[in-house]
Amino acid sequence: MTDITRRDVMAGAGGLALAALVSESARAADPDRKLGYAIVGLGTYGLGVIIPQFVNCQHSRLAAVVSGDADKAKRVAAQYGLPDSAIYNYSNFDTIRDNPDVDIVYVCLPNSMHADFTIRAAKAGKHVMCEKPMAVSVAECEAMIAACKKADRKLMIGYRCHFEAYNLEAIRLTRSGAIGTPRYFRSEHGFVQGDPSKWRLKRALSGGGSLMDIGIYALNASRYMTGEEPVAVYTHEYTDRSDPRFHEVEDRIEFELEFPSGIIGSCMSMYSANQNHILMMGDKGRVEMEPATAYRGNRMWTGRNGRQDEVTPPPGPGSTQWAGQLDHLVDCIRQNKEPITGGEEGLRDMRLIEAIYRSAREKRRIVL
Ligand code: NDP
Repeated sequence: MTDITRRDVMAGAGGLALAALVSESARAADPDRKLGYAIVGLGTYGLGVIIPQFVNCQHSRLAAVVSGDADKAKRVAAQYGLPDSAIYNYSNFDTIRDNPDVDIVYVCLPNSMHADFTIRAAKAGKHVMCEKPMAVSVAECEAMIAACKKADRKLMIGYRCHFEAYNLEAIRLTRSGAIGTPRYFRSEHGFVQGDPSKWRLKRALSGGGSLMDIGIYALNASRYMTGEEPVAVYTHEYTDRSDPRFHEVEDRIEFELEFPSGIIGSCMSMYSANQNHILMMGDKGRVEMEPATAYRGNRMWTGRNGRQDEVTPPPGPGSTQWAGQLDHLVDCIRQNKEPITGGEEGLRDMRLIEAIYRSAREKRRIVL
């Protein structure tokens, strides 16, 4: 744009908004500037896992915190060298639009709050990273995608395993023919829930039980390991509703997925047993990970012709899976690319989650 036309445009209706967008784009494009993330929700994941990861990032940094606990927010801001002006709460969150240090809002809140804060962030002109599960319904996921599209902002879902070295190597081995033709995928994901008062066990905040929280790893892996989209699902749910932990949400839920090539996916999700496992079997061999989607310490084996070999994968795209994930969104903003785990990826899982629950309710195979 020449100076004359830029002045002309600025003087016209909407000029101020355009001016803000132009300077925002220029800031984001500057390769020497790390893009700033605001972390929303200073809980186990946002505070305990994500914030400490910025030291491992090449293109991302912590720029603000958003919390309902003013004392905690102040403490965290001081620890990470943020000014008081970088502290927000859930009521004044929308004023983040006036903070040029914040390029991206990272939503680390209970699941039922994901849609609201994603949409508010997009309206504030910020790109969004939102934790899994993307939201609590297909309708919410669609509204989030529409809001980010309307605001011309990127939306990415925090599926960290797409940046994790073991999972990337398992995908590569499967695609390379190392196990022959893939026939059967299996994954169990679970951990033991204790305190019934936690938000994960309250339907209004979680949207569902183990499937929404941990079973989604098995579901998402069934899709990235096969490279296919399921065509039918059949579910069994096993929940002891007299257990105070499971008055509102499911405990064990087992779902069988049928894929177009004939691969069968058998997945188990649990809130009453600990397991973290992925297995892909082909007609010539298999690849197996346990733990498969842990924060660290994943292990992998290949099996072929009666031999079992432990595999150490090459490094992933970032120095850690989170650094790879956080920097990927920055790269997408700079290159104007769709994130590999964009809103559509979260929406696909949510469509399947709704079908899995429906199959359990109606006790029948659902064709997708
Ligand atoms: P926590 O309960 O530990 O933290 C959630 C935070 O959200 C709280 O600390 C609080 O932050 C804020 N919050 C706002 N309103 C509420 C409310 N009504 N009840 C409870 N918390 C509230 O949860 P997690 O950090 O474990 O999970 C947050 C999100 O991250 C979830 O969507 C989860 O699925 C996802 N997650 C993803 C992981 C991954 O590996 N990708 C791993 C773990 C979680 P504050 O006090 O600052 O207001």
